[in-house]
Parts: sequence; structure tokens; C-alpha cells
Amino acid sequence: MKILVTGGAGYIGSVVVADLIKLGHQVKVFDDLSTGHEDAIDPAATFINGSMLDKLALASALHNCEAVIHFAAKSLVGESVTNPELYWNTNLIGTKNLLTAMVQADVRKIVFSSTAAVYGDPLSSPITETAQTIPKSPYGESKLAVDDLLSEFCQSEKFAAISLRYFNVAGAVGNLGERHSPETHLIPNILSAVLNSEHIFEIYGDSWPTKDGTCIRDYIHVADLSVAHVKALTKLTHGTHHILNLGTETGSSVLDVVAAVEAVTGKKVETQISSPRDGDPAILVTSNKLAKEILGWEPVYDLPKIVEDAYEFMKANR
Ligand code: UDP
Repeated sequence: MKILVTGGAGYIGSVVVADLIKLGHQVKVFDDLSTGHEDAIDPAATFINGSMLDKLALASALHNCEAVIHFAAKSLVGESVTNPELYWNTNLIGTKNLLTAMVQADVRKIVFSSTAAVYGDPLSSPITETAQTIPKSPYGESKLAVDDLLSEFCQSEKFAAISLRYFNVAGAVGNLGERHSPETHLIPNILSAVLNSEHIFEIYGDSWPTKDGTCIRDYIHVADLSVAHVKALTKLTHGTHHILNLGTETGSSVLDVVAAVEAVTGKKVETQISSPRDGDPAILVTSNKLAKEILGWEPVYDLPKIVEDAYEFMKANR
């Protein structure tokens, strides 16, 4: 298939691009490199350096394509609170530009990178796709707005769309891993404390209503997540918008992750308790029943493997 991958130079996008190429697809990557890295793009893909706000560049990138996987977006919750306009512009207006260009090019298949952040503070656990969506940040709001827009395009323009709502993506595939700046995510931050003695790992609160007082999340290996995208491409149906949560149905607390890092690295993690981070829900664990059913997909990697792969990646890319 000829596929346009927006945001294909980013962490998750680059892993998906590499998998698509391995499977024999022809891939064009559209990325402005604002957070992605050109050296993460599989050399067999065609790279277009362009912005989601550039309608002409999007139109020309879509030429000869059959489907789109859309990652290009801003994705930091904290930054979205301080700079919401950036999030509405890039995430919603950028996607609107893409969808309009897709109609003009008659490319009507899309897999979209959505997020668990659309659920806000869930009322029950595990979270299913029918749970209430009350995002707690402009980031979550902008992703939810795109999910809604996709439903409209499926009805009015006969698009075939699948929104994949990711839980906590982590791990690495060889030299493709998390290279965020600043790094805010849990696993790279714990590993950074293991690799640099001057970094002390901060636990954001230890009196949450959970088994050990620290927040619980559902960590999914980026390799498992990538497979779900590849499968989603084969399940697109015109006129239908599937929304699927992607996670492992396993909750791990911050202290569980610290223990996993200590077991994998054989090193003690120095920790310090600090205040809870604004906007953090106590527990986010998903059901993946619907994703299994619709995609015929199943995550295979567990937390130790996620930590092991992230550790190898970080050691090689310090
Ligand atoms: N966390 C932490 N210290 C850090 C980074 C994260 O205690 O340096 C906690 C955070 O409060 C949350 C969990 O780890 O409960 C996962 O955070 P992350 O930023 O990786 O993902 P999020 O769930 O916010 O998308």
C-alpha cells in the first residue's frame, strides 16, 4: 500500500514507519521535525519536511497515496495548559487541513493517533471506549475534537477511520526510542536516574488512593502499539469510525515501575517524593477487549521487557 505517515519522525511514528517498510509498503513521511528526528526515519521512506498548517504541502504529499496514518501533533499535557493555542492550531486545525486535502485527493482512509487523555478522570476502571470523555487539558480536548471530526468525515465524506487511543506507551525498538526534550515520561526519567548519579528520580505524590499511594498506569510496548496500527490499516471500512483503546489491561504503580527498573538494571534507584503533578488521574488502566475484537491484535510484551528495551536504548543514546 502507498501510505502517508504524518509525524513519522517521532517516537511512535518512526517505529510504525519501520514496520510498514518491513512489510513492503511504500511510505512517505510528512514531518516538520519540531519534535521528531530525521535520523529516526527509515531510509527507505520518502521524507517531506512540512507543516500541518501548510495546505499546499499536504496536498502534494497526498499525491498517489491510498491511506494516511496521522501522528503529527503536539503531545505534552503541561505545555498544552500554558500554550493552548499551539495545541488547537497544530492538533485540530492541522488535522482539519489534512482531512480537507484528503477529500480533494480522494484519499479516504485514515488511522489516527488519539489518546487516553480524552477520558480525564475516569469514573470506573478498566476504561472502555464508552466511558465519558471529559479531558482535563487542551491536549486531551484537541484530540477529542479530532476524534469527533473523524466521525463527521466518516458520515459526510465516506471516510474509513480508526482512532487509536493510547495509554502509556514506552520501550524502544533497537535505535528507535524516546528522545523527548524536555523528557517528562516516567520510564526514561527513572532510567536517567540510574544512568546519571546526579539525577534523582521524583515520585509525583505518594498519597493517591492506590495500593501503594503512587499513581497507576497501563504501560504498553511501542512495538505492540505499532502492530495495532499496521492491523488497523487492514480493518478500515468506508463510512465507519472505530475508536479503540490500546493498552495491556495491566496496571503498574510508579513504585512497581521503579522495582522493575531495579530488577532489570541491577541498580538501586534513588527516589524522592515531590508534590503531585497537576492534572494527573490516580489510575488509568484500559480494557483492550474491543481492540482485540476489531483488530485481531494482542499485546505480547510486559513491563520488564519494556524497561529492558528502554534501558538498552538509553545506554546507547546517552
Ligand atoms: N511520574 C513520576 N515522576 C516522573 C514522571 C512521571 O512520578 O518523573 C508519574 C506521573 O505522575 C504518572 C506516571 O508517572 O502518574 C506516568 O507519567 P507519564 O508522564 O509517563 O505519563 P502520563 O500518564 O502522564 O501520560
